[in-house]
Amino acid sequence: MTSFNLLVGVCLGYVALLFLVAFLADRVAAQGRGRWLRTPLIYTLSLSIYCTAWTFYGAVGYAVRSGLEYVTIYLGPTIVMIGWWWGLRKLVRVARSQRVTSIADLLSSRYGKSNTLAVGVTILAVIGITPYIALQLQSITLSFATFAEADSASDWPEISSGIWVAIGLALFAILFGTRNLDANERHHGIITAVALEAVVKLVALLAVGIFVVWGIAGGVGDTMARIDASPLGEWSVEPGRWSAIMFLAAAAFVCLPRMFQVLVVEIDNERHLRTAGWAFPLYVLLMSLFVVPIAAIGLDLLPEGTDPDLFVLTLPLSQGQENLAMLSFLGGFSSATSMVIVASMALATMLSNHIVMPLWLSRRGGAAAGSGDLRHIVLRARRLAIIAVLALGYAYYRLSGGGAGLAAIGLVSFAGVAQMVPPLVGGLYWRGATRIGALAGLLVGSLLWLYTLFLPQFVGFMPESIVAAGPFGIAWLRPHALFGITGLDPMTHAVVWSMALNTLVFVGVSLLTVPAPLERLQGAQFVNVFEHSSGLRGWTGYVAQSEDLLVMAQRILGAEDARALFRREAEAQGVRGQLPEPTPDFLERLERHLAGLVGAAAAHAMIGQIVGGTSVSVEDLLAVADESAQILEYSSQLEAKSAELSRTARQLRQANAMLTRLSEQKDAFLGQVSHELRTPMTSIRAFSEILRDTDDLTPEENTRYAAIIHDEALRLTRLLDDLLDLNVLESGKVSLNLKDGNLAQVLDRALSSALAGADRELVVRRDPGAEDVALHTDLDRLAQVFINLVTNALKYCNAEAPELRIRVSRNGPDLAVDFIDNGRGLGPEAQAMVFEKFYRVSGEKAGGAGLGLAICREIMQRLGGDITYLADEGGGAFRVSLPLAPGLADEAGSTVS
Ligand code: ADP
Repeated sequence: MTSFNLLVGVCLGYVALLFLVAFLADRVAAQGRGRWLRTPLIYTLSLSIYCTAWTFYGAVGYAVRSGLEYVTIYLGPTIVMIGWWWGLRKLVRVARSQRVTSIADLLSSRYGKSNTLAVGVTILAVIGITPYIALQLQSITLSFATFAEADSASDWPEISSGIWVAIGLALFAILFGTRNLDANERHHGIITAVALEAVVKLVALLAVGIFVVWGIAGGVGDTMARIDASPLGEWSVEPGRWSAIMFLAAAAFVCLPRMFQVLVVEIDNERHLRTAGWAFPLYVLLMSLFVVPIAAIGLDLLPEGTDPDLFVLTLPLSQGQENLAMLSFLGGFSSATSMVIVASMALATMLSNHIVMPLWLSRRGGAAAGSGDLRHIVLRARRLAIIAVLALGYAYYRLSGGGAGLAAIGLVSFAGVAQMVPPLVGGLYWRGATRIGALAGLLVGSLLWLYTLFLPQFVGFMPESIVAAGPFGIAWLRPHALFGITGLDPMTHAVVWSMALNTLVFVGVSLLTVPAPLERLQGAQFVNVFEHSSGLRGWTGYVAQSEDLLVMAQRILGAEDARALFRREAEAQGVRGQLPEPTPDFLERLERHLAGLVGAAAAHAMIGQIVGGTSVSVEDLLAVADESAQILEYSSQLEAKSAELSRTARQLRQANAMLTRLSEQKDAFLGQVSHELRTPMTSIRAFSEILRDTDDLTPEENTRYAAIIHDEALRLTRLLDDLLDLNVLESGKVSLNLKDGNLAQVLDRALSSALAGADRELVVRRDPGAEDVALHTDLDRLAQVFINLVTNALKYCNAEAPELRIRVSRNGPDLAVDFIDNGRGLGPEAQAMVFEKFYRVSGEKAGGAGLGLAICREIMQRLGGDITYLADEGGGAFRVSLPLAPGLADEAGSTVS
């Protein structure tokens, strides 16, 4: 019989070995020789902390209770590793590019660096994981107790021994988990020790299995027969429960803080995922291979009432195989310790980063941030947090009395952390996911989990009566049958409700809320991480001169910034002087810094040239060219856009100015019209009132007043006619009546019409030879223009003997007809304005409203010609020009001199 003291001695020796391994690994890594510590194999083995004491001991107990269902616990991670490796790769890439330290950090970073979210996730994790840690403490003390029972000589205080275990683990985690701060400087010591423990527990379980199958049962055939004969042969598959547990195991594999730590934070190179993709499923396959045989043979051989959770230990003991039992004990011990160490370290990082430090900083104000001892504060906070986590675990263990079945506690934990799946997966693939959505979903899911699973599970947290009849006797609020849904086992029930509502609320609230700019930015960086980050090409193994790096960095960052960066790095490394050691981590950080300015590919190529490890490859150059081309194209697109914008703006300005001008003209025009209308109206009213109200008017007066009213009415009619005419012409609604004719005839007609009844003598001088020009135009409209010009000469020529000369000539392709009188003509200002509506030369007594020449211009423009004033002709002089019809131009040319 192994003496109990020997067991304690072996145990202490094993722990000492772990310390040594961790210590050596840390030292080797610190000296920069740690490359072999970072192989895919070690990464795969470190993932084995998924298999805790719960799986080492508990799987057999699970199989005894529920048959093959325990396989689901292993299938979950296998599915993730094989079926979601692309998702894992994305997760690792995101975590590396965002320098994430924990799952709380990842979610907070995705949703706009929200600390509220991180606090929520941390609290959820602590609530969910504490019982799990208690479970590990329990399994260690239980296995000690098993040996103690066998060795009647010792007096083993079962429960209180837990405190020593907890203290030992805390010490280990503090020593190797809080050596340094940077997320990039990983925990080489712990990971190496964990890998060693992974080997120990696998070897132990395989050894027990082989012993059971070939040592006790006598071969595979015999074992199979015994399995068939045992109650294990009668297990049945429950698809609902199986899928629920498989989902939980898959979710926990990614979201458990300790799993996230080894899977995502500690990974050295994302290529390791490729090896782990097949190697880790193989590992869990081996771990699960002998579970059923051990369970069946244990049931067969061991006395009734033996705890099946400890068959792995009690079976070899019962056969007198002390050494095998010792190995098995060390396997269980390894499973428990590696889990507790990594879990407490991961939880401590979350607690210190998201709860302790923010509180401490807000109490100290911003001042502490500037001082240099912040690193010490953070490390101290982490150490305290590790102690707190283990103390909580121990307290829970003491309070719960270590009773509940091992398997149940594990699944409850899994269901808790599974609440992080919707915001995690949503955050990786859906840019529309928002912080409020994630918070709301997480809150609803966690509350449901607490209510339907966590609280009812643990004795003392929730009175029996609530579980049985619902709070206040409300049956549809029973934790295991929400809304009257019965028939599901409590686990499936809780998973379905919490996950469904969590997802629903997350998606719904995300759709209803608008992400803040930072969330939007982070969302884009997460969802499109492969476009934003270059591959993780590490710089391990290359040599570089810091001076050369500084020279290059100065060129790109500017002298001052570069020197400041190098000084900071040197300080962080604890190196004296201005130049940091060119460690791989420093090179990586420098690259990221440069990448912000010159693009990732260019930065990588530049550093590659200096460290000499790589010559610039064609691929690198192409990548650089590609990036520059993209930038160039983008900037030329921007330029084109801005040119287009200013063009549009100019056009808009012009349109606006024109509209303003038109609007002003319209106002002026309306003002003029009403003024012109009012003048004759006023005299018509005045004289008609005189005629109506005065009885003693002489007949002459009567006639005179009536004549005035008649004249004014005529003037009004004329004015209205003119306005209507102008309106028709301006609106373009005029229809031209094109006819063939002769200029002389049109002039004849116009002159006789204008001069008939004239009260003045006007001598008209013409040139009949030149007037014989064939026309094809609207002859009536042309005559109207001529009449107007002749009438104006009659009205406005102030010469003693008024005279009008009509001159016909050819002006290029046009025919020009000039009307020149011998009056005083128009001054320069009037020349510019005379064709505007309502323009009259001031002081002019005779005449109309000033519309005549405006109408003339409109008509001539409709006819394709123009009317202009001729200065320097000695009197009033207007030129009417008219294009000669193409067929008539030659003819005109021959007749016009
Ligand atoms: P209306 O229809 O009132 O005659 P017009 O547009 O024909 O107005 O003429 C505008 C102004 O131009 C007249 O008020 C007049 O002062 C001036 N004007 C026109 N023709 C002559 C001319 N041959 N000699 C001098 N002034 C003229």
